[in-house]
Amino acid sequence: MAAVQRITVLGATGSIGLNTLDVVRRHPARFQIFALTAQRRRDELLTLCLEFKPRFAVMSDAADAQWLAEQLQQARLSTEVLSGEAGLCAVAAHDEVDTVMAAIVGAAGLPAAFAAAQAGKRVLLANKEALVMAGAIFMETVKQAGATLLPIDSEHNAIFQCLPVELQRRDNVPQAHHGISRLILTASGGPFRTLPLAELAHVTPEQACAHPNWSMGQKISVDSATMMNKGLEVIEAHWLFDFPPEQIDVLIHPQSVVHSMVEYCDGSVLAQMGQPDMRTPIANALAWPERIDAGVARLDLPQLASLTFETPDLQRFPCLQLACDVLHAGPAAAVVLNAANEICVAAFLARQIGFLKIAETIARVLDQIPQRALATLDDVLELDQQTRAVTRQRLGLNT
Ligand code: NAD
Ligand code: MG
Repeated sequence: MAAVQRITVLGATGSIGLNTLDVVRRHPARFQIFALTAQRRRDELLTLCLEFKPRFAVMSDAADAQWLAEQLQQARLSTEVLSGEAGLCAVAAHDEVDTVMAAIVGAAGLPAAFAAAQAGKRVLLANKEALVMAGAIFMETVKQAGATLLPIDSEHNAIFQCLPVELQRRDNVPQAHHGISRLILTASGGPFRTLPLAELAHVTPEQACAHPNWSMGQKISVDSATMMNKGLEVIEAHWLFDFPPEQIDVLIHPQSVVHSMVEYCDGSVLAQMGQPDMRTPIANALAWPERIDAGVARLDLPQLASLTFETPDLQRFPCLQLACDVLHAGPAAAVVLNAANEICVAAFLARQIGFLKIAETIARVLDQIPQRALATLDDVLELDQQTRAVTRQRLGLNT
């Protein structure tokens, strides 16, 4: 790798994107921004371009890209502006890029994250949906292309930190030799962990997005409220660490201090702890195997007083059960689960459906779409589109 890491941030205007730029800003001698991308917030992308002066910027829409190009020209910056998915894939796979932060939310992030893996980049993966949808294909591509895949999701980054170094480096050592018996993902339980069940039917998007510990984008906030997020993370862990579903457990830990754990056969349980601040996993992955300052406050253990753990109530959180079932049902079911969830969450945020309708609809759509083999990324994307159409139809939505 070059002395200075040249970084593309996919989804630069989002929660993970901005946290990444905050860490990058602290280490100008180590990191340089090569490209920044955004879907809609062109003013915010302009501000970021003026600060980081990237080689490329990408906007989803061609008209926004045109506007941004004019603004940058007026500011006498040589940043080239691209648009659409082709633009995203180009800056993810560009020869001069070392590291790609994949922080676009949802299925929309899959093609560019995949392009980065195919090009053998150091891929910092926040976009968990990419692995949920295309786990087998994605991991095989990482291997074939010699890419380095580093998890950003706090739970997976925690597990990664608790693994033996040979496993972190993916040296070819048989798993059995490491004596890992279980991966334990922790979950905060979200804002509705203790709400009386009868009230769940009436919760609003604002309540669902008011996460007790983390400040995140809207989609993942709703996923945390339904605990679909933890379900997606179980699937993500299965692919990332090559562990069978039976050896991946979920524990509710409302304080969000223990970010996840690895249990070994001698009875040891290693945990990674820290503030609920995404700059820790981001800095860990950016600098790995070194460590750098992330601007995160120290953990004050005496002030925390107590850490508690409980098993999740699957009646309250049916989405968690649906996601765990999908792991046994095969790769196509995971694509269907993810696509149906994205449509339902968007409909809930737009106040078109109630909270309980999310899990109910996903279960119906899973029953409706038959299993099939998924050999290529195009197969995955086609099933994703088909599921979106079926889900919209079921909800009576036209757009
Ligand atoms: P966000 O909504 O805050 O930001 C999403 C970013 O993706 C924005 O920059 C947006 O412009 C871009 N984007 C959205 N749709 C797009 C599209 N169709 N095409 C191109 N760009 C698009 O989301 P976030 O909370 O930062 O989450 C990003 C990813 O990271 C998600 O997959 C999420 O599950 C994962 N993640 C987030 C957190 C967190 O703390 N926010 C923690 C763990 C994992
Ligand atoms: Mg997480």
